[in-house]
Amino acid sequence: MQILRNTYLSLGSNQGNKLDTLQKAINLIAEKIGNIVKISAIYKTASWGFKSDDFFNCCIQVTTGLNPENLLYKLQQIELLLGRNRTSKNGYQARTIDIDILLFENEIIFSKNLMVPHKEMLNRNFVM
Ligand code: ADP
Ligand code: MG
Repeated sequence: MQILRNTYLSLGSNQGNKLDTLQKAINLIAEKIGNIVKISAIYKTASWGFKSDDFFNCCIQVTTGLNPENLLYKLQQIELLLGRNRTSKNGYQARTIDIDILLFENEIIFSKNLMVPHKEMLNRNFVM
């Protein structure tokens, strides 16, 4: 039997049909990552750090059998499937979809690719 662990993810979109993109992301997470336990309301957030369209954001609770590294990898694959292109430019930019790991059980992860709890979570109203 696989052990399922709780994770909280934040989703954001500020390009194209944002609502549709969030729904598609949630469908792909249900298909590839685990069980969707809860979905928050959707919040409209002004873009921060760069001038761009408003974001639609939400948070979801998911149970998954993946470890944190594989979870990040699969989330990045979903971002690509939904048309996100990561340019080599530094800094914030418009994106069709951004999926971040806010929490993974009660783990503290501090690796090159992954920091959990997410460093910005306390600063994001829609996460709180
Ligand atoms: P943003 O900071 O706006 O989410 P990106 O989505 O482009 O920017 O993520 C940049 C990098 O942040 C990713 O390649 C990933 O390795 C790293 N990262 C570190 N911690 C996390 C986390 N908790 N969730 C998602 N990505 C993370
Ligand atoms: Mg991200």
